[in-house]
Amino acid sequence: MHRVLTARFMHETNTFSRVRTDMALIRRRDFHLENEIPAAFRGTRSALGATFEAADKYGWSLVHPVSANPNPSGIVLDDAFEEICGMIIGAAEIKGPIDGALLHLHGAMVTDSYEDAEGELLARLRQTLGPQIPIVATLDLHANVTRKMADSANALIAFRTYPHVDMYERAWQGAELLNRAMRGEIRPFTVIARRPMLHGFDWGRHQSSPMSELLSRADAIEQRGEALAISICAGFALANIHDVGPSVTVTIDQMRSDRASGQSIAEDFMDHAWATRDFTSVHTLSVAEAVARARQGKPGDKPLVVADYTDNPGGGGYGDATAFLKGLVEADIERVAFHAICDAEAVQAGMRAGVGTRAILTLGGKIDPRVGGGPLTLEGEIVCLTNGRFIAYGPMGGGVERNYGPSMVFRVGGIDIVVITNNGQANDLGQFTSLGIDPTRYTTVAVKSMQHFRAAFESIARDVILVDTGGLCQVRYTPKLFTKVRRPIWPLDPIADPSIR
Ligand SMILES: [Zn+2]
Repeated sequence: MHRVLTARFMHETNTFSRVRTDMALIRRRDFHLENEIPAAFRGTRSALGATFEAADKYGWSLVHPVSANPNPSGIVLDDAFEEICGMIIGAAEIKGPIDGALLHLHGAMVTDSYEDAEGELLARLRQTLGPQIPIVATLDLHANVTRKMADSANALIAFRTYPHVDMYERAWQGAELLNRAMRGEIRPFTVIARRPMLHGFDWGRHQSSPMSELLSRADAIEQRGEALAISICAGFALANIHDVGPSVTVTIDQMRSDRASGQSIAEDFMDHAWATRDFTSVHTLSVAEAVARARQGKPGDKPLVVADYTDNPGGGGYGDATAFLKGLVEADIERVAFHAICDAEAVQAGMRAGVGTRAILTLGGKIDPRVGGGPLTLEGEIVCLTNGRFIAYGPMGGGVERNYGPSMVFRVGGIDIVVITNNGQANDLGQFTSLGIDPTRYTTVAVKSMQHFRAAFESIARDVILVDTGGLCQVRYTPKLFTKVRRPIWPLDPIADPSIR
């Protein structure tokens, strides 16, 4: 029986955020230790759910020290990184011997000491397990993948969808590969290609080219057996780090092919990334334009879904931008469901007032009033209070519990405003229905998200638009912001020869 180490440690670090990621923040939601992990994930369509199923199928004995998945936020404190890293490495040291490792990582975590936190974690694990033990890691499509990560793991397997609805499938792919490696059937090795680019692949949207085209090429190459896995990562550009940017990693079987052939596939894919670097399918409207669109809704219409692209909590946005809400209130738009303002203080004030009472509350804009609109003082009725916990069953939910902390619905005129304690983007209808709001009955549904909202909200929408509220995720590509990035790099510098990597 193989003993397999598994763990989940995922954080997308927006280095421009003021919110420092400490252990208290990490423990606040989606954090589980050893014995809590099977109860939380067995039977769910999550990466760990797939890992438990694979363990049953292959007869593995699993060692699972920790699952930590804090919402994207600012730089992770060294103490927090060392604590969780210590749990994972400690399990490998103490609970050994370990025959293989299947880690579920993001790939864009930055700590005080390590710009490439996953590279550091994987290198430490390699050091502990030695060169012969296979290590497989699943990654988010928005990973900033480094050579250290590729060198330290045998295989890197990134999500292929955005919205990310294939975490379960990718974990299964990783598990299968790990099992074959532990049985000695394959010897996986991973190569990486990059270009001097800060972002690429249309931010990873797989619905159209360049991603759709490259993903089908990758599928065909995998099916022909020329590579074990091809991972196309768009990178996470809200990171002022040396190795920011898109990448392609190719995992080959050293028993059947050589590294050069894998490298040439990776380079070929990145040539395509370079050629298509200018393409974007993202088009945002101003607050005034979005409010005007909302005004056109008539009673009985399916919802117009308006996504605040720049205050996306899924990209480290504070989730408390008020600019669009202010526009809706001032225009007196009715039949609006608004998700959400992340503001623990406001929820506490609502709880003190109680359900059914009217109150004057100051919402949002508190973390950094310079972005997304400052605090907004409104009079309204507290119509619902909950603990913010529910099971998410949408395409991204997987049947896993969500915990937004104490939550409230605050009704201002014709706008039902969800106010939450733990930050998170809207990607599951349960984020409304758990608070008594049926979003299909509203003419306008406002969410804060760049793309993941589409998983659940596109199917209920009469139309979808994106609004720019000037939130934290509004990127200005200037050398002044990206001081630590390798240079030259597009789009900061003119680049004559992209083969400089
Ligand atoms: Zn992502």
